[in-house]
Amino acid sequence: MSDEADTLEMTDARYLMHPFTDARANLQGGGMVIDRGEGVFVYDKAGKKYLEAVAGLWSVGLGFSERRLIDAAVRQMEKLPYYHTFTGKSHAPQIELAARLVEMAPVPMSKAFFTNSGSEANDTAIKMIWYRSNALGETRRKKIISRKRGYHGITIASASLTGIPVDHQSFDLPLPGFLHVTAPHYYREGIEGESEDAFSTRLVNEIEALILAEGPETIAAFFAEPVMGAGGVIVPPQGYWEKLQPVLKKYGIILVADEVICGFGRTGRMFGSQTFDIRPDMMILSKQLSSSYLPISAILMNDMVFEPIADESHAIGAFAHGFTNGGNPTAAAVAIEVLNIMEERDLMTHVSDVSVHFQARLRALGASALVGEARGVGLIGALELVTDKATRASSLEAGKLAKYAFALLQNKGVIARAMGDTLAFSPPLIITHEQVDMIFDGVAEVLAQME
Ligand code: PLP
Repeated sequence: MSDEADTLEMTDARYLMHPFTDARANLQGGGMVIDRGEGVFVYDKAGKKYLEAVAGLWSVGLGFSERRLIDAAVRQMEKLPYYHTFTGKSHAPQIELAARLVEMAPVPMSKAFFTNSGSEANDTAIKMIWYRSNALGETRRKKIISRKRGYHGITIASASLTGIPVDHQSFDLPLPGFLHVTAPHYYREGIEGESEDAFSTRLVNEIEALILAEGPETIAAFFAEPVMGAGGVIVPPQGYWEKLQPVLKKYGIILVADEVICGFGRTGRMFGSQTFDIRPDMMILSKQLSSSYLPISAILMNDMVFEPIADESHAIGAFAHGFTNGGNPTAAAVAIEVLNIMEERDLMTHVSDVSVHFQARLRALGASALVGEARGVGLIGALELVTDKATRASSLEAGKLAKYAFALLQNKGVIARAMGDTLAFSPPLIITHEQVDMIFDGVAEVLAQME
């Protein structure tokens, strides 16, 4: 390492390429170095304290210093740090976690399959769905529908599911056969005078028209987040899921609930599918599953999905898919401990309680001249910023507003997330009433400063 690389920031700028970052701009400055964490707070290298109002990447549900998760990892590492579950091998942490997840699923599920990230889990689900179509002799049934603004990851297939333009641009994505329908974003996509319910009907009609135009026998699955996260915290409009699910059923289309953000308490119930009365055939789980202490993700599937796959793999000799570290025993042991902690501390009751205050403080900010819409559910929320409240004008300028607000807020010691026009919040589930006030007192000051 050269002499000039004498600070971590300089070494960062010199050697590190960051995800989701302007790679050239980073050469000037390097990243903000976070040094340690405690509860809902993180500290930078200089010791400055920040309330992590997005729980890292919507994921550190139990906060940054949960001793029990560390102890669970150490205990498992001392006993068996690694083993796989290929070709008939198994190990207790993965077995126990599979049983726990299948049993706690809000709708009947029969099997769990483990991967390492949300992207890998979505990729795996797509492969499973294609494999199943082939098993059933429905070889044309391969197309997948997802939504504009949906975020499902960044591998080639999961990025094809994702409906955010920058995740496709210059990557030659999406792949053919990935179809994107209108986001259920009433504030932006609703037509003047249209009720929420009528908006939902229009969107579901659009989906049915697409299915019919493409040929129902070619549509394999519909992937959706119960609440869209990275696309702007978009809470589904009234009637959306209720009207959509019978249409998918009618054409034999598999419903995949991407619960990577919503799962494990984020929306006020254990799963987003419960909050919105969704009955998925497959569920994608990650993030708060291990509170992000170690990488792990899971696919849950019902018998309608599993049984044909089992038949096909029996005919071929194997379901030839899996990752070296999928369901790693240490990661699985941490995930089991997350579930234990959630149960023992009755965290869902805490979330129900604190989220009332969180939503009240968030929505009160809707009165600001800069806030077009304040929306959210449970412990996830967003402020969509506008330059003109009456016309809802936003786009690029408001995108800059959100970045500016984010920067001012960070100076005050609160880390939020700026996504286009929107400022998002999804704090650790352990957050207290007082800490919710710290977030929104900070946001109120920033908005007043900017107005
Ligand atoms: N699905 C959803 C809903 C997500 O929010 C994310 C990540 O933010 C992913 C999938 C991808 O997960 P990962 O970053 O672990 O690949």
